[in-house]
Amino acid sequence: MTPMRRHRMIKIVATLGPSSSSYDMIRALFEAGADVFRLNMSHGTHDEIAARHAIIRQVEQDLGRPIAILADLQGPKLRVGVFAEGAVEVQEGQDFRLDLDDAPGDAHRVNLPHPEIFRALNENANLLVNDGKIRLRVVKCGPDFADCKVIVGGTISNRKGVNVPDVVLPLAALSPKDRTDLEFVCNLGVDWLALSFVQRASDVTEARELAQERAAILSKIEKPAAVKAFDEILEVSDGIMVARGDLGVELPVQNLPPIQKRLIRRARAVGKPVIVATQMLESMIESPVPTRAEVSDVATAIYEGADAVMLSAESAAGSYPIEAVTTMSNVAIEVESDPTYIEIIDASRKVDHTSIADGIVSAARELAEKTDIAAICCFTESGTTAYLVARERPHVPIIAITPILPVARRLSLVWGVHCETVTGDVERFKKAVINAVRVALKYGFATESDQILVTAGIPFNQPGTTNILRVAPCAEHLIMKGEPE
Ligand code: PEP
Repeated sequence: MTPMRRHRMIKIVATLGPSSSSYDMIRALFEAGADVFRLNMSHGTHDEIAARHAIIRQVEQDLGRPIAILADLQGPKLRVGVFAEGAVEVQEGQDFRLDLDDAPGDAHRVNLPHPEIFRALNENANLLVNDGKIRLRVVKCGPDFADCKVIVGGTISNRKGVNVPDVVLPLAALSPKDRTDLEFVCNLGVDWLALSFVQRASDVTEARELAQERAAILSKIEKPAAVKAFDEILEVSDGIMVARGDLGVELPVQNLPPIQKRLIRRARAVGKPVIVATQMLESMIESPVPTRAEVSDVATAIYEGADAVMLSAESAAGSYPIEAVTTMSNVAIEVESDPTYIEIIDASRKVDHTSIADGIVSAARELAEKTDIAAICCFTESGTTAYLVARERPHVPIIAITPILPVARRLSLVWGVHCETVTGDVERFKKAVINAVRVALKYGFATESDQILVTAGIPFNQPGTTNILRVAPCAEHLIMKGEPE
């Protein structure tokens, strides 16, 4: 039987939560198509996070496929505390108090554990709760409370987010909780660290210093300031998330589509992964089928060439996590086989070819398009060659072979990359090519009568030296017996 592989290029990020914390569910989500699991540090205790982390690593071991774990730090996000009943319904016109009392909330009050906000608030300020669904207006406020009128009612549940669009808030890049969480998840061993509410490039460099290369850094773009400073933020980040939930509260929602397009294009141009997140299949929290508009939204992100699409509550707290992953996967397979998709992806490729490495990967893509090539295989120690090949958005599968498991895991987020770890001697290029052919055949990316392309940086072990491109007929390399696995 052919071992497990994906039949699409875009990756799927599934957030884990109460609906998806058992071994069976996490394994089923991976089998349905989730490539990356997101641990949301805004929800769940360290024990719960550690338990999910251990299960993901167990699934990885049991299925023999690298899986990326993305820990999403809460950031200086304002959130209400918890309710005695888990949630309350607030009605338009009623009074509702936010305060510093950490006792569980009810229909008349709840904790907002941010003293600095009470100091910055003023009368008539708008507070938007739960992605802007509920609107409160401040009637009276003091150093430890804000008495509000409910302008738009709805359900507020535990730890829902609060935005204050009219007030400039003195927010630090990383809260004390973020620093504790960062240390905790880096020690557990995560592959990507997502930073929430980034406002400037120095927020990212601060987190990078704390992470000390234990995880790659992904900046969530969810503040108007981050959209403005995007180029500088992109430069110091390893990846980007278009975090449309908060972005759509902080800015008018109609601004989101052009921002999404611009961010994806810029991240693609520099070969850094970009995730499109939030409300992609929102109705599937409660329904086994998506709306047509949601399907179209997922398809749009795929046509734009994003590296990944993300599920939040759909997989973390919804009733149909597996159906949601399956839906994304089915949409991707359909879109990616559309000739218009290929035209759009080709037309939106904007790469400056200034280095030898750029030239090699560009040549690999052109060769693959113009001749009969089944896959592009790259040997990579740091992941660089694989990022570069993925940036080209070639029409054939990309196989990344690396001896370093954390590199394979990180690359699981990247468009089109199928990762495989190899053990033993990969020092000699001839052996590397034989390995590449074996992996391509093992997963059904090529047959014995096909040829593949192999790229690498020689000598091995020197990141960023992609300098070789070999056409490898599979049959020829298979008869070289006694060579490495
Ligand atoms: C978002 O706001 O879109 C987002 C992904 O962040 P979170 O889910 O942490 O609110």
